[in-house]
Amino acid sequence: MPRSIKDEGVLLYAFTCGYITLPTSYFIGGEEGKTKVPACVFLIDHPDGLALFDTGFSDRFVGLEKGLGKIVDMPPEHPVADRLRELEVDPAQIKWIINSHLHLDHAGGNNMLPNATVIVQDSEWEFGFSGEDGAYTTEDFDTGQTVKRIIGEHDLFGDGSVILFPTPGHTPGHQSARVRTATGEAVLAGDCCNFRRSLDELRMPDQVYNADHYHGSLQRLSALRRAGAHIFFGHDPDFWATVPQAETLDLSA
Ligand SMILES: [Zn+2]
Repeated sequence: MPRSIKDEGVLLYAFTCGYITLPTSYFIGGEEGKTKVPACVFLIDHPDGLALFDTGFSDRFVGLEKGLGKIVDMPPEHPVADRLRELEVDPAQIKWIINSHLHLDHAGGNNMLPNATVIVQDSEWEFGFSGEDGAYTTEDFDTGQTVKRIIGEHDLFGDGSVILFPTPGHTPGHQSARVRTATGEAVLAGDCCNFRRSLDELRMPDQVYNADHYHGSLQRLSALRRAGAHIFFGHDPDFWATVPQAETLDLSA
């Protein structure tokens, strides 16, 4: 993967770091049955450094069959550190981790990235320690790196190419990212928009932290899509199957 002289601007890569099987209504309200969804992770390669958007599940799930291991499937090659090595990236090179939020399917790989600064919304960091939501595991995200707690929008590189912006509702401090690549603008939604249908039909999961905020976040994404951005949905297995893995994403394709 090493950046070549002809690679200009920001490059974006997608890969899967585990799966979880949950009632479909956790992702889109009113649906029956269960769905196995991917934990979606993105590598943002900017000339000033490497950033990850989310880190998937922890490697402690590899081979685990008890407890959460019954619903989490973590193939041995899926931990984020292994995914990066496949791309010829040393995990120690990652400068920033952008956590959309701190649930176990989004922050589980943070501990494998020793030199990264974690960038998270202040309200998310506070809520993660509150004990109010069982999907937070402090051993996943309280891992000792520098944490930059932000409030509101944040321009990661100071050049407008990677903008973090709040998309609350799923959790209090959920955030998404706009990434301007040479081939188009990507919006890495995270769990403010699980499926393509969530956005097409403006449908929320059955349970959300704050329904008004969730709806507002969907509206924000809808406006970005109308303006031409490519939305990367948080947990859509059908959509994800169309996203090339571990190669430079071409948004003009
Ligand atoms: Zn999630």
